[in-house]
Amino acid sequence: MPYRAPLNDYRFIFENVVGLSRVSETERFAEATPELVEQILTEAARLSEEVIAPLNWPGDRNPAKLENGVVRTSPGFGDGYKAIAEGGWVGMAANPDHGGMGLPMAVTTAVNEMLSSACLSLQLCPLLSQGQIEALEHHASDELKALYLPKLTSGEWSGTMNLTEPQAGSDVGALRTKAEPNDDGSYRITGQKIYITWGDADFLPNVVHLVLARLPDAPAGTKGISLFLVPKYLPDAQGEPGEQNDLRVVSLEEKMGIHASPTCVMEFDGAKGWLVDGPNKGMAAMFTMMNNARLGVGAQGIGVGERAYQHALAYAMDRVQGKATGSGAIVEHADVRRMLTQMKADLFAARSIALMNAVSIDMAAATGEATWKARAALLTPITKVFGTEVGVQVSHEGVQIHGGMGFVEETGAAQFSRDARITPIYEGTNGIQAMDLVARKMMDGGEAAFSVLDAIQSEAEEARATHEALAQKVWEATEALRETTEWLVEQEMQDRFAGAVPYLRAFARVLGGAAHLRAAQRGDAARGALAAFYIDRLLPEHRALLTQARAGAAGLYALGLDDLTAA
Ligand SMILES: Cc1cc2nc3c(=O)[nH]c(=O)nc-3n(C[C@H](O)[C@H](O)[C@H](O)COP(=O)(O)OP(=O)(O)OC[C@H]3O[C@@H](n4cnc5c(N)ncnc54)[C@H](O)[C@@H]3O)c2cc1C
Repeated sequence: MPYRAPLNDYRFIFENVVGLSRVSETERFAEATPELVEQILTEAARLSEEVIAPLNWPGDRNPAKLENGVVRTSPGFGDGYKAIAEGGWVGMAANPDHGGMGLPMAVTTAVNEMLSSACLSLQLCPLLSQGQIEALEHHASDELKALYLPKLTSGEWSGTMNLTEPQAGSDVGALRTKAEPNDDGSYRITGQKIYITWGDADFLPNVVHLVLARLPDAPAGTKGISLFLVPKYLPDAQGEPGEQNDLRVVSLEEKMGIHASPTCVMEFDGAKGWLVDGPNKGMAAMFTMMNNARLGVGAQGIGVGERAYQHALAYAMDRVQGKATGSGAIVEHADVRRMLTQMKADLFAARSIALMNAVSIDMAAATGEATWKARAALLTPITKVFGTEVGVQVSHEGVQIHGGMGFVEETGAAQFSRDARITPIYEGTNGIQAMDLVARKMMDGGEAAFSVLDAIQSEAEEARATHEALAQKVWEATEALRETTEWLVEQEMQDRFAGAVPYLRAFARVLGGAAHLRAAQRGDAARGALAAFYIDRLLPEHRALLTQARAGAAGLYALGLDDLTAA
């Protein structure tokens, strides 16, 4: 089933749901005119559909391999990556001073979603470079920027992110990799990192690692972490790859999905590196990269979900079974129709939330206003969790719609489900994201959240004139979320954490309801019908979710470890 990029959805959401015109009206993004955005979307769709999408299935069947220390990539991946790099897609959001296109994050997010639909394994490579570029733009010295940013922005070299160690996963503060100063201002980096995505590849002339490590006598925990730039090949006097650095790929993980993305165990053995930002400021610098990647991973979930939806829909329109009316295909059965409609409605909601998030990031960058910054920060964990949960759920239903053929690899439905499964895990597990929402993102007493809820309620008030019933439901759900938010900010952390995931899910349901309500007001009859499906059948989930969110921690521990282990 060929992939078709959902261009009409992007156009509609940009114009009617998230107001991209606000972004292009700012001086910073004045060049992102509607004509340019249209050209970018059309060209990215062509690349994704025609060049990258055909690599997905062969990549799953022919995983990346480590041969004599060289990471041999899946068939066609070198050419696919070259097409992405030569099209300027790695540096689409990067600063034009270093060769980037300087596009808004909203447009970048739509393009990243399309590339993820086409081939998640390959898309991870430019995604990590994008995050690294942003981290270096904000935190590196002018010298490092001049040497590395042009090559990273053009995609000639790629970037990785090295946080995880065997004992330091979610608990990044437990990392042990050491950084010792050399006499020439550089550092010797020693330690092992695990799960490093695209740690190396046979088609890349150089790979630039951003590595978190500890300086001698650094304070314990996250306060004592510094960030280092460690290239595979040290640039020579002309800035080209020179002497090989003391680092290597030890092994590749055998994984449930994204088989074509090499997930590397990396050994740094006194490798030469340079400090990015000041000593012990590594977490702040890495957060720039992680926030970029969190929005990107949310878009990955949506992208894989979109492809799974299209695949399942094609099958459902073709497969004849039972006494279905109309065409006689299974798409006519009420239960199959329920699954497909939920897939479509959730994809629209998740896409709208991700693009709202991206517009907030763009407005924060363009205006420097604290309100936009706070909104972007609030929406980031919601985008990551909801986008990836929708990806997992939609691809799971995609298998179900295929019946037995979904469980047989040959149809390709299973690959989407296996590939999507990593997205709630990496880039900060979804549980950790939800804790971030109820803790750090509520340190303002809920102010950023309340301002979003105020906006939704005032729009719902306006929508009553044409969509009385739908508007009322969105207004009421928002009011319930407001009451729980007021309650939440008064609670002890442990009680907030106990309900963090259901609270985040309820928040996403409400944001999705607001997006669908706008679609009902401004779209055609089909958008109205989809909005009614979402608001009537999916939005009510917020009630159960908010009940769980307020249940507190005590009940979770009422069942002791002995009870859990009792046979
Ligand atoms: C395919 C793949 C690619 C990856 N790519 C990269 C990469 O490029 N660079 C990189 O640095 N890392 C990468 N990772 C690592 C990834 O980010 C981590 O796996 C993830 O952060 C979780 O860490 P962990 O696996 O150690 O799980 P743990 O931290 O051991 O977590 C296990 C479970 O406990 C929960 N948990 C842990 N701590 C808490 C807490 N304080 N409160 C509540 N719940 C908690 C988690 O939510 C999770 O459900 C990758 C991983 C995979 C599998």
